[in-house]
Amino acid sequence: MNSLKFLLCFGAALLLAACGRGGDAPTQTPAGTDPAAAPAAAAGEVVVYTARKYQLVEELFEQYTKDTGVRIRAVTDDAGPLIQKLKAEGANTPADVLITVDAGDLWFAAQEGLLAPVQSATLAANVPENLRDPENRWYGLAVRARTIAYGTQGTTAEQFASQVKGYADLADPKWKGKLCLRSSKHVYNRSLVAALIARYGEPKTEEIVKGWVANLATDPFSSDTLLLEAIAAGQCGVGIVNHYYLGRMIAEKGTQPIAIRWPDQDGAGVHVNISGAGLTAHAKNRDAALKLLEWLSTPEVQAKFAGANQEYPANPQAQPSDIVKGFGEYRADPISVAKVGSMQPDAAKLMDRVGWK
Ligand code: FE
Repeated sequence: MNSLKFLLCFGAALLLAACGRGGDAPTQTPAGTDPAAAPAAAAGEVVVYTARKYQLVEELFEQYTKDTGVRIRAVTDDAGPLIQKLKAEGANTPADVLITVDAGDLWFAAQEGLLAPVQSATLAANVPENLRDPENRWYGLAVRARTIAYGTQGTTAEQFASQVKGYADLADPKWKGKLCLRSSKHVYNRSLVAALIARYGEPKTEEIVKGWVANLATDPFSSDTLLLEAIAAGQCGVGIVNHYYLGRMIAEKGTQPIAIRWPDQDGAGVHVNISGAGLTAHAKNRDAALKLLEWLSTPEVQAKFAGANQEYPANPQAQPSDIVKGFGEYRADPISVAKVGSMQPDAAKLMDRVGWK
């Protein structure tokens, strides 16, 4: 059974995280605006508000315009500002589609009435039920796992596996001065802690997270990539990161002295999240926007969509990259996004209480 099938068999958590939340100014980028590339009978335009970095979708959007004649105008920003923009624009919004890298943001946008439900046999067939909104307001397009990564210099996989079976083990004093974490302000970590609260309850989760903070090798990092570089450099022995950051590092620089330990494989499973998309409530180009979402869910496109960021395709008919396949199979935490979404404030408060900066 490959890792994706394995993941889907157990269900996946649709949680809260964000990719590329850099605080950059919003950018507007027309894709495929070369008139020569579009068929004579251009079939219109779709406006996409995307928190997924533009370079991760640009090629696909251009291909879509070439194939269909439909132009895609993308507005890129963090999910928070994009959602506020949608709210402020109301019925006048030009946006047809919202893409986030955080199911929690999609969940929040849906709660705010900013996304409209769609009926699509294609999306229902291509996106597993556990990777989409029960009310069909958004659909997962790629899956990411927030996992344990460790330095392989001085330890074997067997040695590490015998010491660390799950997230809670990183609270053990034997990791004092060796653990590295990203900032608690980042939604990836809030999601993880919310999932742990759902799993263990607040008192036990607080004990675990307190242990993590006591074990820190250095101040929390501002990105998963910096954290991985610190593991490679030997500054950190172990850390918690999204799997694709290691995938990217390997793709860019070759083999790294870092390995992944899938946590809690005998228990609740590794915490996973999605990148996904929904149609806006006031979409002007609803039919064209739905066709774009359906196209993004097809196996061939899925492999490219996920592959651009070393993620797992949401569509089980598509395969992840060879690098990601090399990370091996895992079992995902099947907790529902709605539950974890509602626990975000509790997670943030808990992280503040234990002094996780
Ligand atoms: Fe990310």
